Amino acid sequence: MNKVYDIIIIGAGLGGLTGGAFLSRVGKKVLVLEKSKVIGGRCSSRIWDGFSFDVGADYFAKGMLKTFARLDKDIALRPLGFLVKSFNKGKVMTIPPGLHLIRELSGFGMNKKEIAGFGFRMMKELVFEGYSKRYKTNDRVIDEVTDNPLLRNILNIGAFFSGSLPYKMPSYWFNLLFGRTYGYDFPFYPMDGAQRIPDLLAEVIRENGGEVRTNVSVEKIHIEKNKAAGVKTTDGEIEADIVISNSGIQDTVFNLVKGKGFSAEFKNRVKKYKPGLLMNSIFTAFKTNAGTINGVHLYCYFPPDIREMFAALHSGKIPDEPMFTVSVPDAVTGKMTDGCYTGTIKFITPRGEKRKDVILKEAERVIDMVDRVIPNFTKSIIYKKIVTSEDYEDEIGFESCIAPIAESIEYKKMNHRMPVKGIYSVGATVLPNGGCTASSVESGRRCAEEILG
Ligand code: AMP
Repeated sequence: MNKVYDIIIIGAGLGGLTGGAFLSRVGKKVLVLEKSKVIGGRCSSRIWDGFSFDVGADYFAKGMLKTFARLDKDIALRPLGFLVKSFNKGKVMTIPPGLHLIRELSGFGMNKKEIAGFGFRMMKELVFEGYSKRYKTNDRVIDEVTDNPLLRNILNIGAFFSGSLPYKMPSYWFNLLFGRTYGYDFPFYPMDGAQRIPDLLAEVIRENGGEVRTNVSVEKIHIEKNKAAGVKTTDGEIEADIVISNSGIQDTVFNLVKGKGFSAEFKNRVKKYKPGLLMNSIFTAFKTNAGTINGVHLYCYFPPDIREMFAALHSGKIPDEPMFTVSVPDAVTGKMTDGCYTGTIKFITPRGEKRKDVILKEAERVIDMVDRVIPNFTKSIIYKKIVTSEDYEDEIGFESCIAPIAESIEYKKMNHRMPVKGIYSVGATVLPNGGCTASSVESGRRCAEEILG
């Protein structure tokens, strides 16, 4: 019997959509099934009260543009470069680095010799992976690069972004965040917002005869004679010899396949993956005269000792001083809604903290602290929606950890090809490195390559 679809993709996250885009371009008949009403997963936007917010990722790397160029969508993405300002003890550091860095680092108490030494060691790492090849953890790479406490805090930012603990972050994160692995050394934001990224990928699939359906949940992957045979969905049964899952490795193995056909060793390996620390988002709209800087999308506030903060969070305590970020894409795109910019504040929930009143109180403390990075922020707010880590799944549709599986030296990434024939996995858990948008896109591209041989 002729099957209607060559490939079924479970979940319209960046990995699934990118895989689908490449496969449909070479003539494969692709069907993407997304359970929620919005595509994009952790790279998507929502509109509340007329204001649009990115509910997951808001930081993209120029390396992604290469992939989009291969799909002829790089121009449509309209990427805009932006700056990141990191605040630590009243001092500021701006990335991407430029000549301003020398002035900024002297503000960190570093003399010319120390700055030159730092520059040299950064080059050694970013060009030759001089330290990350040698050491296991990101922490250890930072030890080699600088002993300046303020700078060390800032270099640990990956722990915040991935919800991982600094001493468990794999060393490859250093080059990933500051170097050329994916091009995060030149971050960009799409002119039309983060949702534009999955929308363009879906466009490629549709232009090439594929389908992307929303509000359809996959409940089961059928296996026949040890091979993928199709899926059971809330809309009925659909046959296909190849199924790519973007629903997360644990969900795929234990819920969708129910362990069938996987060895005990493989299942044990999958079980070990742990989610990252959870994030809270405060979505705000504020008057444009609050004091944001044009072209600056991200403001990062660092506590005096980020490792101490993680130790508190890890043991379930509210830290003395939290780390938080404020993203203001409108200050890059120049868009305004009702004379306002939108901004999203993020901070981490202490491990295991489920009391909403405790998290909400912390949210209010964080809001008050934003004036330290945007001078008139608090008095300029005209709209505010706090979505705590506890509410994320219900409100937005996914758990609030940025990387669904924490980056950790304790486990290696999976291959795209699962041990059952015809089943593939894409997203943050699988190769290549990093739980970020760029790595998710890359996982989809590589999975498509693997399928096409
Ligand atoms: P991400 O977490 O960004 O990689 O995105 C994963 C996407 O897969 C999200 O949009 C989820 O809503 C979607 N998803 C997860 N499980 C299923 C499922 N069983 N059926 C359909 N879509 C799913």
